[in-house]
Amino acid sequence: MSSIWSLALHGGAGAIAERAYKREEEHMAALLDEGAAMLARGDSALDVVTAMAEALEASGLHVAGKGAAPNAAGVVELDASIMDGATRKAGAVAALCGFVSPVRAARAVMERTPHILLAGDGAARFAGEQHLARVDDPQAYYAPAESGLPGAGTIGAVALDAGGRLAAATSTGGLHGKMPGRVGDTPIIGAGCWADERAAVSCTGLGEYFMRVNAAADVSARIAYAGQTLDEAAFGVIEDVRRLGGYGGLIAVDAKGHLATPFVSQGMKRGIASSSGLRD
Ligand code: ASP
Repeated sequence: MSSIWSLALHGGAGAIAERAYKREEEHMAALLDEGAAMLARGDSALDVVTAMAEALEASGLHVAGKGAAPNAAGVVELDASIMDGATRKAGAVAALCGFVSPVRAARAVMERTPHILLAGDGAARFAGEQHLARVDDPQAYYAPAESGLPGAGTIGAVALDAGGRLAAATSTGGLHGKMPGRVGDTPIIGAGCWADERAAVSCTGLGEYFMRVNAAADVSARIAYAGQTLDEAAFGVIEDVRRLGGYGGLIAVDAKGHLATPFVSQGMKRGIASSSGLRD
């Protein structure tokens, strides 16, 4: 075990320049402390990103989990994914209704099915069989969080643990007022979430653009095939999104613990911590 670890969290690239985000910042700072303590005591990157994403979903401060907004038909349909870089196992749910933590459902898909992505009724049925916490009264539970830009309030976590393993998790309510059944980049492994032996990445922004550039996996591909640094790779991917007319950002960590958090939007709620004392 090395003593090197790194952690990054995001609450979406929809932050607007003129608004203060005090509650979000305080909550994220406390979560970073918690995640840093988990990584310092040797917890796995997979467990840390799961715990961080679950807490961000439950906070109601972002457009994911409790803070998600309904689609055009008034229904809250949620997307989430998780990937373990050490094994390249992945799990995801799309258009999931009625459960508190879509990221927990994604992790259960990864660990307890031969599949990667379950959608809609099938995903809900599976989550029920796994006895995951349900939202009994959607009207009472959901309190849509504000998002400055349409659909950029996704949450995510990426981590490198002391065992050298990388993991990423992403969860979202998707775009405000989206078409029923619309699925964005968040549960698409490679687009909104990726982790392998080189990098772990979680994206936020207009998902259609992130799917068109296969954003999350492309960060790792640029490192592997073009010899780019994490910074170059992460900024290059976001520049591709911008060039196509999209906006958003991502958080990324590499196997050495370097962190990158580029975005093209007014702001992105995000936080980083590492064993080298980095804290922001
Ligand atoms: N990427 C998400 C989606 O398109 C939205 C977001 O980042 O808030 O569903």
